[in-house]
Amino acid sequence: MPFLLTPGPLTTSRGVKIAMLADYGSRDIEFREIVKRIRASLLDLAHCGPNYECVIMQGSGTFAIEAALGSFCPAKRYKTLVVCNGAYGERAAKILNRLGRPVVTLDKGDSEAPTPEDIVAALNADRTISHLWIIHCETTSGIINPIEAICKAVQGRALTIMVDAMSSFGAIPIDMTAWNIDVMVSSSNKCIEGVPGFSYVLAKRSLLEESEGRCHSTVLDLYEQWTVLEKTGQFRFTPPTHALVAFQQALQEYAHAGGLPARSARYKHNAEVLVKGMREMGIETLLSDDEAGPIIQTFLTPRDPNFHFDTFYEALRQRGYAIYPGKLTKRPSFRIGTIGQIDEAVIRGALTAIREVFAEMKVTDMHPLES
Ligand SMILES: *Cc1c(COP(=O)(O)O)cnc(C)c1O
Repeated sequence: MPFLLTPGPLTTSRGVKIAMLADYGSRDIEFREIVKRIRASLLDLAHCGPNYECVIMQGSGTFAIEAALGSFCPAKRYKTLVVCNGAYGERAAKILNRLGRPVVTLDKGDSEAPTPEDIVAALNADRTISHLWIIHCETTSGIINPIEAICKAVQGRALTIMVDAMSSFGAIPIDMTAWNIDVMVSSSNKCIEGVPGFSYVLAKRSLLEESEGRCHSTVLDLYEQWTVLEKTGQFRFTPPTHALVAFQQALQEYAHAGGLPARSARYKHNAEVLVKGMREMGIETLLSDDEAGPIIQTFLTPRDPNFHFDTFYEALRQRGYAIYPGKLTKRPSFRIGTIGQIDEAVIRGALTAIREVFAEMKVTDMHPLES
């Protein structure tokens, strides 16, 4: 199998894969203990105090996003401000529109971060905004949004702060208590390096309690999911047992390897080696080094007429490296993920493969293609 240089699903460890060789029953005491430990570990990792709860939701990350938006965002009178600087912000706004929940967006394009001043100005301009939805690492470009500074700038306001930390949680610090974040969502197949299958919502208990009856959906109802998990230790509907057991193994390996500082350092190193190597070939990045995070790197498409992304992608995959298919930013670009069970040796291998493929395709003019 190729290495997955994508922001999830990603390359997992052998231990994580092996953990899935056991079939647990969803009602078994051992399995319920695993679920309990996972919930406690996630709360710890996000620096949640005793006022927070962890609710696990079946499905990919977007299921937790829709569950959180549907369970917490107001249906009338008040609005949710969605900060967009890429596809994931747009998706959250689309979900709210679909649910008929009032939404306003603050759109920064796809390669610029919102500033605390931008957010404060948007809140001052519309006094009916009661909820804020913001993304920690916008995986469209890999840009890191300054959520700590934003949270500090809005302290004291009657505002529910909701963060999509899907692609950053576990690798970029987040302190829900100190930054007074009300809700955070992430999923199993990102920086904790588990397999796809579930997502999770960390939220203040008071918000969950108030959310009874508010969700538009039965399966995505966080209040119901939470109360049943609390009461019985079980899920309402079939849980992804193998994905949960694998995640428990991933959490153990994460702690054993040194936790967040170690993971963050490995990803940063991956990103630095990759960006340096690409620049040596003449390829430019969309973002500057202080904007780009360690999760995914966006490179500007070379203008050489011999460059065709699909050929490039397939030739790399044949050599053992699956980069991110397709392009999302408005400027012609392609992306390479730097998370998962990969290290410098894998990145160096990918760089060698990229050099070979450029030579094979006779791509020599690396100047960026203009849109
Ligand atoms: C991966 C990701 C999601 C969730 O996507 P799914 O395909 O539903 O798992 C949401 N937001 C961000 C920022 C992501 O990186």
